[in-house]
Amino acid sequence: MFENITTLSYESPCSQPGGGGPLTYDFDRSEFWRAIPIWRDIDAETFGDFRWQQRNSVTTVHRIKEALSELASSALISDIEDGLLKTPMNIRLTPYIFSRIHWENFENDPVRRQFLPLGSQFVPDHPYVMDDSLAEDGHKATPYLTHRYPDKALFLPITHCPVYCSFCTRSRVVGGSTAVKSKSTYGAKSKEWDSTFEYIRNHPNLEDIVISGGDALLLRPNQIREIGTTLLQIPSVRRIRFATKGLAIMPMKFTSDIEWVEALDDVCRLGREHMKEVALHTHFNTDREITAWTSKAMKVLSETGVRVRNQSVLISGVNDAFDCLHYTTKKLSSQLIQPYYIYLHDMVPGCEHLRTTVSKAEHLSHRLQGSIAGFNTPRMVCDAPGGGGKREISSYILYDHEIGVSAWTSPTAKPCEIFYYYDPIGKLPKEGRDLWANNSEIKRRLIKFRANAEAKAEASRT
Ligand SMILES: *Cc1c(COP(=O)(O)O)cnc(C)c1O
Ligand code: SF4
Repeated sequence: MFENITTLSYESPCSQPGGGGPLTYDFDRSEFWRAIPIWRDIDAETFGDFRWQQRNSVTTVHRIKEALSELASSALISDIEDGLLKTPMNIRLTPYIFSRIHWENFENDPVRRQFLPLGSQFVPDHPYVMDDSLAEDGHKATPYLTHRYPDKALFLPITHCPVYCSFCTRSRVVGGSTAVKSKSTYGAKSKEWDSTFEYIRNHPNLEDIVISGGDALLLRPNQIREIGTTLLQIPSVRRIRFATKGLAIMPMKFTSDIEWVEALDDVCRLGREHMKEVALHTHFNTDREITAWTSKAMKVLSETGVRVRNQSVLISGVNDAFDCLHYTTKKLSSQLIQPYYIYLHDMVPGCEHLRTTVSKAEHLSHRLQGSIAGFNTPRMVCDAPGGGGKREISSYILYDHEIGVSAWTSPTAKPCEIFYYYDPIGKLPKEGRDLWANNSEIKRRLIKFRANAEAKAEASRT
């Protein structure tokens, strides 16, 4: 039935060799979506239309059942239903990303793992998780602007996304409410942005503005134009970036939404006239998300002159193996997408099974360095919980591997504070797991750790 489909030879998304000889990059050119029963008869032209992608996005368990038909076992469906009772995120997958999942091996599939939580895979939250792990709400300069660093700020004009990720760091506001989390979300309301523009105008030290959310992909073309031109016309703003997962989960947006690309093109032209940078920051986590559709989209984007960078999250069972990170990094680079950051998973609720340890991240970072061109080597960072900002993975001042606690300082963002990151308990050595199971012992150990960290921080300040 699918003889016209060429499946790729690799099993896992990341079975490419890490060292040695030349890599060949596989870009899936097949009509892979036809493997999903409901899209068997969908041709490439229909699949390549962003409107079709949006209209056919999968947002309910019922729809998953319908889409997969005979591929969906009742065990899978009840596991997803169970997952929905525990996750702070809504379900939303574009047909593109839905059909990048290898459903015959859904349990371990790295794409499924990012978007569709299974009840059976949940692990209790770490006692120190925080809804707003990065303390973004506390640094609000206007309702839509987080201003933490001296010369850069984060503008959040929208809280909706074209997909919803289980590991979202802004799960407290992004997408709709779920069984365990109620939220007040907002759409893009351009009438309310004036105070934010005014704030940026009045703070000439702000040179970099990140436009994120939610996802800039869902801003209308006139909103892209309005935000872009308004910001670029502020003399002190030197660079702007639109953050969107779009390229990874709906690349056809850039080949079929002509008006949106034209708006971006106009903003880029204005940027060039003023010698200012316009960038698009996207979010691929594995090489499976990079296909022939990505190449086509990148071709269009390169013509606008926009600079494209990638920010990944290090996710257990998704991309936390060296070969995977290395191959994804190289494959992104081959498409003019510059690997920029790999974030240690933030300490937010409902994704304990997806987090990994600082020491694992350090190890991966260590191996990545030198394996690719320096400018394509992503920086492995921990966004220090509590608002310390992004810190190089090896720059903690103290780390107790046994109980998985690291201490961080942040001379620029908050010079007098210490920030703590807690590794997932399930991934600690047995001694550490036992300590966390014993309330009074772990308390004693933490008090000692914090005292040592204070002393260390004090010494480094003087
Ligand atoms: C990440 C972030 C930025 C941008 O930081 P870069 O290191 O330049 O990418 C700005 N503001 C906030 C609050 C951020 O979290
Ligand atoms: S696309 Fe980004 S903001 Fe939206 S759910 Fe995913 S991680 Fe969160």
